[in-house]
Amino acid sequence: MSEYDYDLFVVGGGSGGVRAARFSAGMGARVAIAEERYWGGTCVNVGCVPKKLFSYAAHFAEDFHDAARFGWTVGQPKFDWPTLRDNKTAEIDRLTGIYDRMLTAAGCEVLWGHARVVDPHTVEMDGKTFTAENILIAVGGWPHVPDFPGKEHVVTSNEMFFLDTLPKEAVIVGGGYIAVEFAGILHGLGVKLTQLYRGPHFLRGFDDDIREHLATEMRKKGIDLVFNCNIDMVEKKGDRLVADLNNGERIETDMVMYATGRRPATRGIGLEEAGVQLNDNGTIAVDEHFRSNVPSILALGDVLGRIELTPVATTEGMAVANTLFGGKPTTVDYSNVPSAVFSQPPIGSVGLTEAQAREAHADDIDVYLSEFRPLKHTISLNEERTLMKLIVIRSTDRVIGAHMIGPEAGEMMQGFAVALKAGATKAIFDSTIGIHPTSAEEFVTMREVTRSGAREAAE
Ligand code: NDP
Repeated sequence: MSEYDYDLFVVGGGSGGVRAARFSAGMGARVAIAEERYWGGTCVNVGCVPKKLFSYAAHFAEDFHDAARFGWTVGQPKFDWPTLRDNKTAEIDRLTGIYDRMLTAAGCEVLWGHARVVDPHTVEMDGKTFTAENILIAVGGWPHVPDFPGKEHVVTSNEMFFLDTLPKEAVIVGGGYIAVEFAGILHGLGVKLTQLYRGPHFLRGFDDDIREHLATEMRKKGIDLVFNCNIDMVEKKGDRLVADLNNGERIETDMVMYATGRRPATRGIGLEEAGVQLNDNGTIAVDEHFRSNVPSILALGDVLGRIELTPVATTEGMAVANTLFGGKPTTVDYSNVPSAVFSQPPIGSVGLTEAQAREAHADDIDVYLSEFRPLKHTISLNEERTLMKLIVIRSTDRVIGAHMIGPEAGEMMQGFAVALKAGATKAIFDSTIGIHPTSAEEFVTMREVTRSGAREAAE
């Protein structure tokens, strides 16, 4: 019998922590898990899940418009924010309840409150101490707003899910996942929207063709996208906010939302006191088996600052359980992690961007591009266009990047991620018979090289 109260004490009940706790308990470990805010963490409560529900809601605006040319008389659509917000909240309450019950059913001891690490094998909560052979830090992250005068007047994604009223006008600052997703959501729900991004082009790290296509589509839909621009100061004037921009202009609006990245929530939970080394940005350095410099303290998910995606955290949770209690030391393969941005239209992406491919393979690449109006929009007369892109190493024929912007891009990219992971060549893509009529079939029927490193070099 172990000298400790538990084999594993998990601090943080988000996707990664819950996965590690449940599977460890399933393998016979004695597990406790502590959470102070909400079961399911960011993803379930103020992230992926409610955001996707809002994204569906926003898309109806175009669906009503598109329906008319298919013969439907819809009438004047009217949107009611409290209905969406409250139905969303009820669904999230249902989901968090399931998390709680799943943990208990798996045999975990479920603890509610703020946990603090006291030493390499001890955690303190509400004056009680618990000992554990292993402590897993899975506390996730929190939105970060830079310092500037008037910072207290702005909101972040956390508040967006619970607004009392929907603003008529809003400004979003940032050019990452959250900023473009909320730009699409608010615009779709009828908010007059301006998005400001500090650099020359948003979605840094995504493929350039995809970034440009999204900017074009967002502008076509009526979003005011301003690049090379940031806010210097925000002032409250009655019910309105006035934002001074660094280009000398001034915007008056109802709401300013900051989506300028997230920071790991690793301060104030005793890590430094217990000897755990934090990087300058607050993330925890771990080895391939998620152990920090204090071997009994492990960490996973957003606190690592690697890839901040729920399925990455849950994969890491499985790896921790397998390593500690399954007799199978497991590492995580971070190559070809697919992701989707639920912008309007959405993006799906796996593998290298063209710029990354050129850096890794010089001129040994072929790029296949297809840009078209999807079948549905030939009748709807919706101006939105789809773009698909494959990147191939010419000498080996291996497909190393697949990118798309258009309806259902996220759904489509999951399957192509399997193909890339399996090492599929362009010849295998070409010999795969398409599903007709779909947009997806375009990925297996792109025959003409659009750009080729060697051809460009030869020109
Ligand atoms: P991101 O890191 O994706 O983007 C942050 C954005 O804010 C960047 O455009 C960045 O600009 C900008 N920024 C940073 N600091 C400042 C500043 N001081 N002033 C002005 N702009 C600034 O963060 P998000 O908050 O959008 O999302 C956090 C993470 O959550 C994502 O990286 C992603 O991993 C995850 N996520 C995933 C989703 C999905 O899978 N669909 C959805 C939502 C979130 P620059 O590029 O110039 O640094």
